[in-house]
Amino acid sequence: MRENTAVLSARNLVRRFGSTTALAGVDLDILRGGSVAIMGPSGSGKSTLLHTLAGIEVPNDGEVQLRLLGAPPVNITELNETRRSKLRRETFGFVFQSGLLIPELTAVENVAMALMINGVGRAAATEEAARRLAGLGLAGLEARRIGELSGGQAQRVAIARALVTGAQVIFADEPTGALDSVTGSEVLATLLTGTVGAGKTLVMVTHDQQVAARCDRVVRLHDGLIIEDSVTSHRVGVQR
Ligand code: ADP
Repeated sequence: MRENTAVLSARNLVRRFGSTTALAGVDLDILRGGSVAIMGPSGSGKSTLLHTLAGIEVPNDGEVQLRLLGAPPVNITELNETRRSKLRRETFGFVFQSGLLIPELTAVENVAMALMINGVGRAAATEEAARRLAGLGLAGLEARRIGELSGGQAQRVAIARALVTGAQVIFADEPTGALDSVTGSEVLATLLTGTVGAGKTLVMVTHDQQVAARCDRVVRLHDGLIIEDSVTSHRVGVQR
């Protein structure tokens, strides 16, 4: 049962960088439509795990299987870079602390770009991007460049960009890390609504216990291994 509902299954993931072992044999099933927070001290392998699950990095050993509804399972680890890149553009969405938005472009251009890379024409992409931005409370700010937005507004643009392609799994790395706690909490609510609230899966690296507690599940890493995997009270409760 659990096996069938996993959208991503990692088996024995090992990743080494020279003499450093970033992942020492990680097994993890990510349930479809759920939210998982990956926690652990600095250097414990959180980002490497996120990047490996998302096909950004290739492990030295082990594999990651993707099971989308209505499609045969795909072993991401075995795909060549071209196919992994296509997967990242079409099936996955990314919200990182910074760096994914292009500062020279406007908010709407940044969001539309994600669609245009996937072959959508400029006019249709711009229209859909504007609709997404409005849906995230950014109506009227479409023509601002990223640098003309507040940190919270810019992160909403990043969320719009991650969601606009219809991505099924969203990967977030410290998505609220650069924001004050009130803004961070609002941005997190936007992220959760747009992902798990819409039947998508969220995998998020965070060092913030309060942020993690708003996910269904917390996975804790230490020295490249999962040392704790717990369901949060959020999941146990009846809040959703
Ligand atoms: P975390 O996200 O928990 O801080 P990382 O996954 O970034 O941990 O890193 C895990 C370990 O792997 C660390 O010791 C880090 O220095 C090392 N590491 C990560 N990426 C690289 C890289 N590209 N080159 C060399 N070492 C790396």
